[in-house]
This record gives sequence, structure tokens and C-alpha cells, in this order.
Amino acid sequence: MAKQPMLKFVKVDRDMPEKRAADMRREDFQEIYAEYAEAKAAEQASRCSQCGVPYCQSHCPLHNNIPDWLKLTAEGRLREAYEVSQATNTFPEICGRICPQDRLCEGNCVIEQSGHGTVTIGSVEKYITDTAWEEGWVQPIVPASERTESVGIIGAGPGGLAAADVLRRAGVQVTVYDRYDRAGGLMMYGIPGFKLEKPVVQRRNEQLEQAGVAFVLNCNVGEDISFAEIREKHDAVIIATGVYKSRDLGGPGAGADGIVKAIDYLTASNRKSFGDTVPEFESGELSAEGKRVVVIGGGDTAMDCVRTAVRQGATSVKCLYRRDRANMPGSQRETQNAEEEGVIFEWLSAPKGFTGDPVDGVMVQKMRLGLPDATGRQAPEIIEGADYVEPADLVIKALGFEPEDLPTLWDQKELQVTRWGTVKAEYTTGATDLDGVYAVGDIVRGASLVVWAIRDGRDCAEAILAKLDAKGGAIAAE
Ligand code: FAD
Ligand code: SF4
Ligand code: SF4
Repeated sequence: MAKQPMLKFVKVDRDMPEKRAADMRREDFQEIYAEYAEAKAAEQASRCSQCGVPYCQSHCPLHNNIPDWLKLTAEGRLREAYEVSQATNTFPEICGRICPQDRLCEGNCVIEQSGHGTVTIGSVEKYITDTAWEEGWVQPIVPASERTESVGIIGAGPGGLAAADVLRRAGVQVTVYDRYDRAGGLMMYGIPGFKLEKPVVQRRNEQLEQAGVAFVLNCNVGEDISFAEIREKHDAVIIATGVYKSRDLGGPGAGADGIVKAIDYLTASNRKSFGDTVPEFESGELSAEGKRVVVIGGGDTAMDCVRTAVRQGATSVKCLYRRDRANMPGSQRETQNAEEEGVIFEWLSAPKGFTGDPVDGVMVQKMRLGLPDATGRQAPEIIEGADYVEPADLVIKALGFEPEDLPTLWDQKELQVTRWGTVKAEYTTGATDLDGVYAVGDIVRGASLVVWAIRDGRDCAEAILAKLDAKGGAIAAE
């Protein structure tokens, strides 16, 4: 009888891939986790108990067939594991790197709940597809046959690219428009290299380009081309523009030099990693080198800013957040990584204003947590008389993002938006109120996750294909 390869969680401990030492990672923008060796990936995959009702799968936004690809990995059948994994996920190696697994698949793994430590699902997923790339198993996208219909996609982030992938495989003519000079959206210019190295994104962009997806870059829809023109050119249009309007701070001194937006700061840093000329970085405006840096916010963007500032050679990096550690929105894993790299967290601290112009300090108000508010979260309350000034030469605002006002920017008053400004779209298809116009990703959900954008993009592309087939080509009403 064949040896049982699975259910090893009782004997084998959870073991993440090796993490580079903090003083080494502070020196560069390379990823901090190493790759599993083959035997280690098989060993860790073999810990899975092959649940009849796999909660890991139901809590993965893509409903990845996790138990099956874990079993195939444990059996050394990696190529088959890759085939299963890529059947439901457009970018498995990216999700394996940057999904907040503790809130999704791994956070719902039953062996964790029995006290044995979750299966390292994300690291195995990354290992499978990184190996597939190395071994040449990732095949070029070749449409079975060409179709004449065309779809225009505005935004080359994960939502737009996932839709492009599905549509192109089906032979549809796809054009992706983006205002940036490189495709990838926040995977390219928001998320830093120490979480997601850029060649990993670039090889996906190239795969789509080689498949015949046309990229029209440096093209800001609404300025360089109108939305109406794009609609005229294509049988269907997908809006996948993400959310980029930064939430702002008021208070005395809020307009001083040296107070910058997180997205500008991270974009400049990512551009520098490509070797681009970035005048705002060169002038010092968006560089942390030699500065006392204060980052305001407690989400993943704030974590990316503090860790970028460490790598740029800041003299000190502090993070102010108005709630406590247990109530921060950012991932605990990333917060721990930041602490290891030397970041100091000032919990229960909110900015009241700023001193100096250029800025030389943040006026900090100490807070305590009061009763839960309407959302159920404990509301922060000011502690009177506990203010102080935190010295700072660079203040980075990482308070979250809101959608731009697309109906006005694009002169499309009929495009329905929610009261938060996100585009109103049908949940399972992305269809908006405009004929033949769809929307996916953050512009529909508000600031969310790469894996949800991929899910939306795939679902939307399937819905468009079904509609094209049903209507024999055109979607928009005559
Ligand atoms: P985006 O990735 O934002 O892409 C939208 C694209 O549309 C951009 O390329 C933009 O240039 C383009 N565009 C916008 N307007 C126009 C226009 N008018 N004309 C032409 N092009 C336009 N998620 C995770 O899962 N894990 C993480 O670790 C993580 N870290 C993050 C860190 C930071 C700093 C930020 C800001 C976000 C992070 N996220 C993370 C969230 C994740 O990046 C987003 O949820 C995801 O990228 C949304 O995908 P999208 O395709 O909807 O939009
Ligand atoms: Fe987990 Fe994300 Fe992979 Fe799903 S896509 S299995 S949530 S890491
Ligand atoms: Fe395996 Fe955990 Fe998923 Fe169960 S919940 S199938 S143990 S990974």
C-alpha cells in the first residue's frame, strides 16, 4: 500500500521559509523571505490534513483548490500542482507573496485551530509557481482562435490584467490603457520590492504583451483620450482604475514643506529602484535619507512607508497610530517585520498639528480607547494635557485612499457611484449602469487587496465572454 504522504501536522512543525536577518534587510529592497527548498516545500505541504470541508479554500477569495495542490506538492508532483494552482489564480506567485494569509486562507486552517500552527499555504503557493517559471512550465498565452471583438481596459493593475488574461486566452482583442509608464498598478509602484520584487510583476506583463495584449501606456484617460472615445473603439470597456485620492490631515501647519503623501513617497522610491530619474527624490523632498521620519497611520501602506524609510537611511523612523496594536488595520506580520527592522511604534497617538515650515515636529495628542462606536470598534478619545511634540524632518501621511470623482473627471454623469464615490457595479459580473461598461477592483470595492482585484477581473472577463457569445459580438445597445 502507498505510504500516506499527508496529515503530518502532529509530527512536523510549521516552518516558514527563512527570513533574512533584519540588519541585512535594512540595506536593500530585496524580498525578505527565501524560497523553500524542494524537500522543505513537500514536508510543509504534507502537514495538511486534507479536510473534507476545507475552510482554507472557502476563505480564499479565489477559492483556490488548496488541499489538492498541497497533496501534489507533498507527493513531488509539482507540475501537476502548478496546473491545479494556475487554473483558479492568474498570479499565484504574487498572491503567495503578498496576500494577508493570516486573515484569509491560513487564518482559517483547521490545524491552527487545533493548536498545531497553520499550513504555510502562501509560501507553498509561491514556491509552486516560482518553480514553474524556472522550469519553463509557464506557457505563453496562445488563444485557441482569434475573435474580432475588442475590449478596452482602463487600468493595468491586478484587476485589469487578470481580465486581460482571461479575455486574451479566449481570443478577444484586448487593449489596456494606463496613465503610468509601466503596467502593474500598485503591484509595480505602490507595494515595495521587499514584499514583491518587480521582475515578478514584469514577467507577467511581458507574458500578456507576448500574447498580443496591446498596452497604451502614459495615457491618462480623461486627459489624453476621452472615456467616450474608448467606449466607441471597443465592444466593451472595463474600468479598473483603483483608488488614488489620499485622505488628508488638517490642523495647524498641515501645509508645511516636508509633509508628504504616502503614495507619492512610495512611487518615488519604487521608481528609484528601476533606476529612473526622480527629481523629487533627488532634491530630497521624497527621500528619507538622514531624516527623522514620522509616518502617520496604522495600515499596510504605513507599514510599507516606515520600512522604506529605514532602507533609505533615515536616522529614526516612528509610526503614530491613534488606536493600539490589537486594533490596527495593518497585518501583524508586517508590523513585526517593521519592529525587527528598527521602527518604533507610538500607539494611541494622533497628530494635532505640525511645527515649523519646513516641518520640524508633529504635535501629538495621546489617546485612550473608549466605548465601541457604530462599527463596533472602540473609538479613540483624547487624554487631556498629555500632548507633546515629536521631532520630525519628514512626515508621511498614510491615512488611506478614496476614489477619484470619475463621473466628473470623465464627463460621464450617468456613471453611477456609491456614496463613497466607488463605481456601482454588479457584484458577480462588474456590470455598471452604462451599457457595455464594467468595473473591477478597488474602484468598486474601495481600497482592498490584490487577490480581490484578480477575482473581480476574472469574473468580469467571464461575464463579458458569456455576453459576447450570447449577442454574437456586440454588447452595447445599438
Ligand atoms: P491598481 O493596482 O491601483 O491599478 C489601477 C491602475 O489604473 C493604475 O496602474 C493606474 O495608473 C491606472 N489608472 C488610474 N486612473 C487612470 C486613468 N484615468 N487613466 C489611465 N489609467 C488610470 N494588497 C495586497 O493584497 N497585499 C499587500 O501587501 C498590499 N500592499 C499594499 C501596499 C500599498 C502601499 C498600497 C497602496 C496598496 C496595497 N495593497 C496590497 C492593495 C492592492 O495593491 C490593491 O488592492 C490592488 O492593487 C487593486 O488593484 P486594481 O487593479 O483595482 O488597482
Ligand atoms: Fe491564500 Fe491568497 Fe493564495 Fe488564496 S490566493 S490561497 S488567500 S495566499
Ligand atoms: Fe489543509 Fe488547513 Fe486547508 Fe484543512 S484547512 S485542507 S488542513 S490547509
